[in-house]
Amino acid sequence: MKRVIRLSAPHMGGEELKYINEAFQTNWIAPAGDNITYFEKSLEDYLSQNVKVAALSSGTAAIHLALILAGVEKGDEVLCQSLTFAGTAFPILYQGALPIFIDSEKDTWNMSPYYLEKAIKDRLKKGKRPKAIIVVHIFGMPAKMDELASISKKFHIPIIEDAAEALGSEYKGMKCGTIADYGILSFNGNKIITTSGGGALITKKYSLKEKAIFLATQSKDETLYFQHSNVGYNYRLSNISAGIGRGQMEVLSSHVDKRRENNKFYRELFKPYDFINVFSEYISNIKSNHWLTCISLSENKGKKTVSGLLNCLNNNQIESRFIWKPMHLQPVFKEAVYYGEDLAESLFNSSLCLPSGSNLNQENKERIIEVVLNYLDA
Ligand SMILES: *Cc1c(COP(=O)(O)O)cnc(C)c1O
Repeated sequence: MKRVIRLSAPHMGGEELKYINEAFQTNWIAPAGDNITYFEKSLEDYLSQNVKVAALSSGTAAIHLALILAGVEKGDEVLCQSLTFAGTAFPILYQGALPIFIDSEKDTWNMSPYYLEKAIKDRLKKGKRPKAIIVVHIFGMPAKMDELASISKKFHIPIIEDAAEALGSEYKGMKCGTIADYGILSFNGNKIITTSGGGALITKKYSLKEKAIFLATQSKDETLYFQHSNVGYNYRLSNISAGIGRGQMEVLSSHVDKRRENNKFYRELFKPYDFINVFSEYISNIKSNHWLTCISLSENKGKKTVSGLLNCLNNNQIESRFIWKPMHLQPVFKEAVYYGEDLAESLFNSSLCLPSGSNLNQENKERIIEVVLNYLDA
């Protein structure tokens, strides 16, 4: 039986256990301790732009806190990219707010500036003023931040950058997650680096980082006893998980390089097939970490389809998945308003994610080549 080639498996660097052992030796087996401090510091250094990072229990928790810091309350509207993972949008519901979903544009698959502006104008006309915009860098591809930021400025609505999939991606020399008002990262098991589970909130001010940590540790007042004037959450990262994160930061750059090599591998593999597009950068001053490489199929004479290829790969123990099903098509969001056409939906219907781990080796690639060519040339 062949071993399964995973879509995006955890990939340890080697030093993670050393930092976990430090936590054991000092008995900081808690959501507090040195590993958290060092992990946050190494993220701040890596991201630069003077950002302040709060390590949290998940990317979803980070989005929730970003919404709270942006002042989103019950009944408010939040503009959100439709083509994304549900973790982007669920926190809007946690706040009792209403998501307004926005279509993608074709170059980056991310939020369409055109439909964002159209949506804002229409909401204002209806007497609503959206409180925040959640932009995603999907599969690591940087969104069109200049265009989106100028709309955000024009209407005074802050942007939360969901960089859960985009640690290491860059937009015009800036790291994704550091460009807008707030940014979030995820260190879930399948992401470019993992802490087994975890996330982070990126802010521009130390006072906002402090506020996030206050909210993430049950909003305890500065009293000698347990007094709480605000609702709190238990969202801090564990010191054990942060130890994994410290080790992972040492190999982040090489993980990015390897995922970018995977994207190049797929571009070569699919070059002879003019009906297959490998999702890559459309201009040279952006850099995707290529967290997952995706392909889109257009209509073709041989009647090759995404589900045909997906079945073929999965039958051969090669994990492949459909891209995220857009949020405006999800049963749980059936009440939500949507601005756009059918681009997100047609990308969903025509695209696949392929194995993209930083630990994908030559033997794995040869198996992938064989199965893909078998299907396409049959
Ligand atoms: C993974 C992911 C999240 C959620 O992060 P968790 O750490 O799993 O909570 C949010 N948004 C996107 C785009 C993601 O891929």
